[in-house]
Amino acid sequence: MELKVDALVLRTADYGENDKMLTLFSLQQGKISAAAKGVRKAGAKLRFAAQPFCFAEYVLVKRGERCTVISAANTDGFYALREDIGKFYAAACVCGVCDALLYDGIVNEALFLYAVNALRAMCDGDAAEALIAFCIRACELSGYRLSLRGCAGCGAELDGRAFFDVADGSFSCAECAKGAGVSETTVQVLKKCAGEPYRAEYILPDGKKRALKLLHAYLCTKTETEVRAFSEYIALL
Ligand SMILES: [Zn+2]
Repeated sequence: MELKVDALVLRTADYGENDKMLTLFSLQQGKISAAAKGVRKAGAKLRFAAQPFCFAEYVLVKRGERCTVISAANTDGFYALREDIGKFYAAACVCGVCDALLYDGIVNEALFLYAVNALRAMCDGDAAEALIAFCIRACELSGYRLSLRGCAGCGAELDGRAFFDVADGSFSCAECAKGAGVSETTVQVLKKCAGEPYRAEYILPDGKKRALKLLHAYLCTKTETEVRAFSEYIALL
């Protein structure tokens, strides 16, 4: 059986002499593993289709449970992400989060579009902000919404130092204080990237790094998966 899917490469693993096993996130079929034969040979026609973050239309042949790539037409290679180590790891975080949140064969069109849009935004914009915005949306889509609008206890606006409960994704004010302390800059960066009203004057240079640490810890708790690219990316910021 032949399958045609629009897909993003989440992960690749070498196998055999010249082959790769791809983990694809497809718009139409969710997560699929597919073999890409001969793609490690110099000059292989499908070499581009077995690179991280490649977004292409793949034609797969399915025999039993095994899929093999037979052709691919490039939609967007996101080349800018491979020329900058920071952008590369930010993009790897997007793919890692998708991988952690997706179960095989479950279609998730919204997450797919968020991922592709995040990679596009990273190519010519602020990669850290694009990643933070993507993580917030991906959490919400997966039922792990972060409550950034106000204190989960009393409803007060989150002003000054706040608290974050990693178990349920809720923020609270200094009086209600549920969970671990979170700096003002972290809260303001998260609000900014979530598209909520925020106070630019409270954002410090390390705000994005702190926001990413919080999101990484939250995602680890919720998915019980460590997305390793986060540590690499955070170390570069
Ligand atoms: Zn409160």
